[in-house]
Amino acid sequence: MREIGHFINGKPVAGTSGRTADVYNPATGEVQAKVALASPAELQAAVDAAKAAQPKWAATNPQRRARVFMKFVELLNQNMEELAVLISREHGKTVEDSKGDVIRGLEVCEFVIGIPHLSKGEFTEGAGPGIDMYSIRQPLGIGAGITPFNFPGMIPMWMFAPAIACGNAFILKPSERDPSLPIRLAELMMEAGLPAGILNVVNGDKGAVDAILAHPDIAAVSFVGSTPIARYVYGAAAANGKRAQCFGGAKNHMVIMPDADLDQAANALMGAGYGSAGERCMAISVAVPVGEETANRLVEKLTPMIESLRIGPYTDEKADMGPLVTKEAKARVLGLIDKGVEEGAKLVVDGRGFKLQGYEDGYFVGGCLFDNVTPDMEIYKTEIFGPVLSVVRAKNYEEALDLPMKHEYGNGVAIYTRDGDAARDFASRINIGMVGVNVPIPVPLAYHSFGGWKSSAFGDLNQYGSDSIKFWTHTKTITSRWPSGIKDGAEFSMPTMK
Ligand code: NAD
Repeated sequence: MREIGHFINGKPVAGTSGRTADVYNPATGEVQAKVALASPAELQAAVDAAKAAQPKWAATNPQRRARVFMKFVELLNQNMEELAVLISREHGKTVEDSKGDVIRGLEVCEFVIGIPHLSKGEFTEGAGPGIDMYSIRQPLGIGAGITPFNFPGMIPMWMFAPAIACGNAFILKPSERDPSLPIRLAELMMEAGLPAGILNVVNGDKGAVDAILAHPDIAAVSFVGSTPIARYVYGAAAANGKRAQCFGGAKNHMVIMPDADLDQAANALMGAGYGSAGERCMAISVAVPVGEETANRLVEKLTPMIESLRIGPYTDEKADMGPLVTKEAKARVLGLIDKGVEEGAKLVVDGRGFKLQGYEDGYFVGGCLFDNVTPDMEIYKTEIFGPVLSVVRAKNYEEALDLPMKHEYGNGVAIYTRDGDAARDFASRINIGMVGVNVPIPVPLAYHSFGGWKSSAFGDLNQYGSDSIKFWTHTKTITSRWPSGIKDGAEFSMPTMK
């Protein structure tokens, strides 16, 4: 059985804790590897390596730090196919979708190639008589990232690229469900010229996370995962005096106005609802058609499209989506679908019985469509994280707007309309972090930044973009005067720039 260990001080190392977790092939249900679960002593080895390497890296001029990312981007492009397969094998999503996972992380690496410019400070000459004032951004020291299973390429790169470009050392604790790609990324960073100890990968579960949260030498923690764990990590990190940004779950709505192009909206819902089997934090899981006629027509269009979804293992190049990640995820999703039926929602397309010949033990669930869902139902309140789309019918625009506004989560939202005034009003009033206008999955590009509102995010600064440079650095402001002539006496009142 293949064993996946850690990556510490520039090389792969075997786990020594004696604890492991199974890594499955979600298409077949077979255990394909065991991943080591780190003990606090193994985390300490990563911290020791990081601590030893970081001062020299921070003192390396930013152009040289940028060059590591130039080379890394080249290596990612060269190895794209291999990297995508590495993801698909453990996650289950299609290879094309896994390439998207790598590319969206690669784009953040491209962004941080601008680090010499991005990390420049501010300077005011003559802030007072003979006084100059300047602000510089200095790395925090050691940062840590804790990432979810659904984007094992993109999300680690969201974090380690800006953290390392800013001059920090980094400890990544990836998801134990699909740990192979993060280790491979660390190897490629070494090949790109990163000094040993600057990027370490420590595999593990709650034990490793708690060790990170308690470690006095780790200055900042970036987390992406489910909301209960995001809330927990944020609280524990803050209680231990660490800087934290913690991103959680979602329930993303798409409002479809009566004037929208319904073919476009239906196609967008298919990709955004069922791509990656719905296991995306920016998946659309609630469609809100405005008006009975819009709703009837939309459901009519969606039904045959969902029924003809091609579902298969990642080796099927034509598959639209793959299986769910684990047996537990499948059982949870099926349980929620049963609950929706019990609660009285109309299950228009029922994917619960889906079976694929030759893959009977895989974690597949067929595409499902619920109609007549209401806000009091469990399937509306909970993030299902599976191939299940709920239709909530709204009488008018205000009622449609009210639904995502009142929902616990605030990650992404979209509106489909031809009316610029409605779109503008929607974008302005909605209390959600990322808004799409005729765009179903409005994930911002690397030079903007990613983050939700409400229970989808705790902390303030977003992932990537200029926010990330702020998150991974301290601001230091220097007020300097070089006196000439007679020295002044002491000043006892609050100094102001007269
Ligand atoms: P998860 O919360 O189960 O796991 C995330 C990380 O936390 C993993 O590294 C895991 O090992 C660790 N962890 C799990 N339980 C823990 C515990 N009790 N104590 C400490 N650490 C623990 O999430 P997941 O199932 O891997 O990912 C899916 C979730 O992530 C969904 O809710 C999805 O919406 C969310 N997500 C959010 C974003 C975003 O940017 N907002 C992006 C991707 C995924």
